[in-house]
Amino acid sequence: MTARSGTQLVDLVVTGAAELLTCAGDAPDLIGRNPGGGVAIDGGANTAGGGVGGYAGRREIDARTKVVMPGFVDSHTHVVFGGDRACEYAHVAAGQEPPAGASVGILGTMADTRSLTAAELVDTAAGRIREMISSGTTTLESKTGYGLDTGSEQRLLEVNSKLAALLPARIVSTYLGAHAIAPGRDPEDWTADILAQLPDAADRGAVFNDVYCDAGYFSLEQSRRILEAGAAHGLAAKIHLDAYSHTGAAALAAEVGAVSADHLNFTTDGELRALADAGVTGVYMPCLEFAVQHPAPLDPRRLYDAGMEVALATDICPGCWTTSMHLAIAMGCRTGGMSIAQALRAATYGGASALGLAGTLGSLAPGMAADLQVLDVPSHEHLAYRIGRNSTQTVIIGGTIVKGAGLD
Ligand SMILES: [Zn+2]
Repeated sequence: MTARSGTQLVDLVVTGAAELLTCAGDAPDLIGRNPGGGVAIDGGANTAGGGVGGYAGRREIDARTKVVMPGFVDSHTHVVFGGDRACEYAHVAAGQEPPAGASVGILGTMADTRSLTAAELVDTAAGRIREMISSGTTTLESKTGYGLDTGSEQRLLEVNSKLAALLPARIVSTYLGAHAIAPGRDPEDWTADILAQLPDAADRGAVFNDVYCDAGYFSLEQSRRILEAGAAHGLAAKIHLDAYSHTGAAALAAEVGAVSADHLNFTTDGELRALADAGVTGVYMPCLEFAVQHPAPLDPRRLYDAGMEVALATDICPGCWTTSMHLAIAMGCRTGGMSIAQALRAATYGGASALGLAGTLGSLAPGMAADLQVLDVPSHEHLAYRIGRNSTQTVIIGGTIVKGAGLD
């Protein structure tokens, strides 16, 4: 195709959306709603967002009657694991004890994960991640943490690298040796093993170092040592904190400059303000709270009141098996009381913030990565309203169409 005179020829142009949502960080309405807007993409990056009348695409997508927005950034996942816990889930849901021998909890999944080869783990996780991509997720974080011995945790880091090479989604690898106390191990001994493994984790592609700080998991003091040692090896900090008890780890997260603080159920308002002041993004996972019938669900409005940037994530894991950011959005709004604009920003710009990537991903503006989706709904409210529906019709990652537009 030749460009019409006065127009710039680019790789791809998406035109005439019923609503373009830029989700730009400084959008006064949180989502940068622009009826009739479009996106011009060239070389894997956005060239223009909004008016695209001056562009002609080698390929064009007509988005009339549709919503165009950034791909979802799912910033908290445990997507690599072996087996499942359907038996446990069914029994707990019915108010019963799982039978002896059923795979139960993190340690049950640890055994199932150790029993698979790296190739089998890649295969099973890839199926789940393909579902995530099909549902509009273009970037996801993937934690280790179901190996719980040095060799098995190394294998999970290799699985993360293989998945990133295999699949079109951007996959950010997090080392979470500190997911639980390894069975039969003294907590201090396992902490020492984790500290020894951190330099190797960075070499094997981990970007983040995460700790589960809570009663029965890692103490505040152990969490401090693990996060500080990770930072010394170039691993940025994330932290699971206060999910089931108040730990005081919010101050630690602020002090070490954690990129995100996740769960926050028992964190005080003063601690949330300190996290906001330190620029820590709060990660809210309503599907996990639903799946485990959490005794003290987080009210995400407390995070907004404290001034925090908020991310929505699926927390996909064997205890909360959902690949759908659409469901997380619907639940964040209806059970968490988020506005739909807050939820959509949290699923895009907020998720990118929780991965330290908001400068390049999670919003549609010139120079940002061309990661976006076209949804077959007439307005953004339908993303929360049609509960859990996969309205994502077309997915573009780095300027390449990976779902839809004739590819299915
Ligand atoms: Zn988690």
